Order: sequence, then C-alpha cells, then structure tokens
Amino acid sequence: MTGITREKCAKLDAADPLAPFRDEFVLPEGVVYLDGNSLGALPKATPGRVADMVEREWGRDLVRSWNTAGWWDKPRTLGAKLAPLVGAAPHEVVVGDGTSANLFKALVAALRLNPGRRVVLGETGNFPTDLYVTQGAVELMGAAERRVDPDGPELAAALGAGDVAVVLLSHVDYRTGALRDMPAVTRMAHDSGALVVWDLCHSVGALPIELSACGVDFAVGCTYKYLNAGPGTPAFGYVAERHHATARQPLSGWHGHIRPFDFTGDYEPAVSASRFLSGSQPLIADAALEASLDLFARVDMRRVREKSLAMTEMFIDLVEPVGLRLVTPREPERRGSQVALAHPDPEAGYPIVQALITRGVIGDFRAPDVLRFGFTPLYLRYVDVFDAATALVEVLDTDEWRDPRFAERAQVT
Ligand SMILES: *Cc1c(COP(=O)(O)O)cnc(C)c1O
Repeated sequence: MTGITREKCAKLDAADPLAPFRDEFVLPEGVVYLDGNSLGALPKATPGRVADMVEREWGRDLVRSWNTAGWWDKPRTLGAKLAPLVGAAPHEVVVGDGTSANLFKALVAALRLNPGRRVVLGETGNFPTDLYVTQGAVELMGAAERRVDPDGPELAAALGAGDVAVVLLSHVDYRTGALRDMPAVTRMAHDSGALVVWDLCHSVGALPIELSACGVDFAVGCTYKYLNAGPGTPAFGYVAERHHATARQPLSGWHGHIRPFDFTGDYEPAVSASRFLSGSQPLIADAALEASLDLFARVDMRRVREKSLAMTEMFIDLVEPVGLRLVTPREPERRGSQVALAHPDPEAGYPIVQALITRGVIGDFRAPDVLRFGFTPLYLRYVDVFDAATALVEVLDTDEWRDPRFAERAQVT
C-alpha cells in the first residue's frame, strides 16, 4: 500500500505555491484533464485577447496595426517572451509556422553548415513528423538518414563513425516520456563534429530548459501542448547567435529578408534569427499565444518541475499494483511530465483510455500499446492525480474496459 490518501492530497494542494494558477484556466466540471501534453487547456485570458486582436487591432485599426499593434514584429516579440522558457537570449527565438516546417528549416540549415558530412542522425521512435521531415530533407539535400535508440549505447557509436552532420532528438520522448540528457548529448555531438537540433515539443512549458548553457545549435517546439496557446498555434525556432550570419534555411521568404520593405528582386537574409522566418504569420493565433506567454512570465519553472515530478511519482505509486507495465523511466531525472503505461494485451490500451474518458479522466492512447497521461502542474491538483489513479484502478479491476463500445476507434486517437 502506498499510504497516499485523498486527504493527504488535499493537504498538498493547500500548501502548493502553484495552486492559484488553476483558477486562470477554463476547466470543464467533472473532468480530470491529463492530455495537456497533446492540447493544453484554455487560459481564461485568451478569448478576450483574441477578441481584442480581431475587433480593435483588425476591425478598427485595420492595416495600421502592422505598425501600431506591433504585428510586423510579432515573431520576434513573442520569441523574446518565449526565450526565458528555453534558456535562450531574447533575439535567438522567433515564433512562426508549424513545428514540422521549423524542423525542415533547421535540418537543411544544419546540413548546409556542415557540408563535409551527409548524415542526419535521428531516433528510431521519434514523433512521425520528425522522421518524415528528416526523410524529406535528406532527399532534397542528397544526404542520408540513420536512426538509433538514443536511450541506449548506439548514439555514441553512431557519432563515432565521423560522418554525422546533425543530430535530431526529442528532448522528451512523446510516447515513453523519457527525458534526454541535453547537456551530455549536445557535448557528445559537438565533440564528434556534428550539430544538434532539439525538438522541445514535450518539454517546453513542462520543465526548465537551458539551450544557451548547453550550447545547442537549433531547437524547435510547438506552443499548443504544455504552453496552452490553443489548437494549431504557431511553433517557434531557436537559432544560436553564432549561426545568425551563416545558417541558411530553404524557405527563403520575404519575412526573413534583411530589408523586406525595399522589395528588391534578390533574397538577402537578415543577420539574426529572423532569417528563419518565411511569410506572413497567423496573427489571430499569435494573440492566443501571447496570452499564454504572459501567463508563463509569472511562472517559476523550477516549481513547475518540482510539482510535475511529485505528481508523476504519485501517479506511478498509485497505479503500480494494477499490473500495467511502466514505460516511463522510474528515475525522476530521466522523466518528462507524463506517465506512459502499457497493458500486456496491446489491444487493451485503446479501450482502457476510452473507458477512462467516459469517467471524465482524459488521457490518450498512442499506437502500438501506450496509455499516456500528461501532468500539467499549472492546472492540475494532487486530488486530481488521486482521482485519476483511482479511476484507472477501478476500470481495470472491474473489467469495465472490456465493454465493446470502448473498442470503436475514432479518427483521432
Ligand atoms: C507534437 C509534436 C510535433 C508536432 O508537429 P506539428 O508540425 O506541430 O504538427 C512534432 N514533433 C514532436 C516531437 C511532437 O511531440
């Protein structure tokens, strides 16, 4: 027995310094939301910000807002607001386009910076878009792709071959929740003559990140997961200052030009992270992202990390007896902000998640067999962790998940 009770959880909530943030989110009654690692919850400030952008900036001020509302500089001003969350200087981050597009730009730029080498070293289990974009980039560049398990010894061996131009890894694995050692891997890559691109989709907003201190070359990440900016909001790209004059990305559009309003006929990239921009941005979505980033400006990420680890630890302890395999590393320093579990029967994962959703506990399922539960310290309470674990134990103990209605797959899992 774990000795964790709902009363003890309520006491932890009462003493939690992050507890007031919960009130800044819209959270439906009767729902324990453990899918903030897929789509973050709605901050209460967001609808007003979006309405103001649409009605005042667009409706009233019209085209003047490019100057008066700072529309033109949004990719940079939002990048500067995001920079502290990834340990970057304000001018090293730009917001724009999607994660996949930013990945493509970073990979091609890295290959061009390291012309004597032709291999992109990726990871076997990375998020599909990272794998697919790598395939597209290497095809375009006449390069080659190699994949390894970055949590095993193969990474060092692959780097030792001496032909790796760039390493692309996820900081936190989207399926297992494993957190990679960014300082060590970056150092190892650099020592072997390779550049690094980190995908921060499952770590930004979930734990402190130190891109500059680690000497990272490029990073990308999305804003709709732990940053809670909203569905489809733009991604960001980090370009280390030392590459601002030399990194060349392939989508050379006018927003990346050094003097865009000269309207000249030839591309000349800005000498800054702005050279990673391409064209006009979704400014309405940018307004939603800004509301989120203004909230995060008041958040101490060390506290977020502490609470995240306490919550994932508690959840693991509570569900351990039910006989699911723990996919996520048990060691806190190797864990992101999610707990992944697998049932011995791979067909059981999906219906278990569906049965939980019917009970108001929202997690998700990732093929082939992973039940994923994301923990977002800004709006989750310890009692929610307790209730979610209790629901999971009951769904398994009573075989509730075997009801055939839970086996029907929706388009999005
Ligand atoms: C969520 C996620 C993405 C998403 O890519 P989009 O272009 O925003 O759809 C990419 N990579 C990883 C590792 C992710 O977790």
